[in-house]
Amino acid sequence: MGNSEGFMAAALAEARVAAELGEVPVGAVLVVDGAIVARSGNRTRIDRDITAHAEIAVIRQAAAALGQERLSGADLYVTLEPCTMCAAAISFARIRRLYYGAEDVKGGAIDNGVRFFAQPTCHHAPDVYSGLGESEAAEILTGFFKSRR
Ligand SMILES: [Zn+2]
Repeated sequence: MGNSEGFMAAALAEARVAAELGEVPVGAVLVVDGAIVARSGNRTRIDRDITAHAEIAVIRQAAAALGQERLSGADLYVTLEPCTMCAAAISFARIRRLYYGAEDVKGGAIDNGVRFFAQPTCHHAPDVYSGLGESEAAEILTGFFKSRR
């Protein structure tokens, strides 16, 4: 867990790139054996795909790179609390640990909303660590929405 801050910093960098592209600034990286195997920001506008959240994008990238659909030893770092769709994908991909930055009271599904991993129908839940890089993640989001008003 020693380099968690560094991995979250990489996810925050992806969030900033997403903001520059006009995407909602959320970034994610996927780490296997201490190395980043996938990194992305939200891509919903660029890809014209509402499922192209940062988490889904890195899960797809990593699965392609590793040649397997399940990512059992992988740790996901994302700057914002995942939504219901992403929580389900994280569960299905068998992600080992989830680190997220800012809480999302309106759209989050981990510690807010449906609390996906706590449901009896959820068959795999990662270990969850929240609050890493929280203030920076929130600042990037706030700045983005302010500039678009
Ligand atoms: Zn999502």
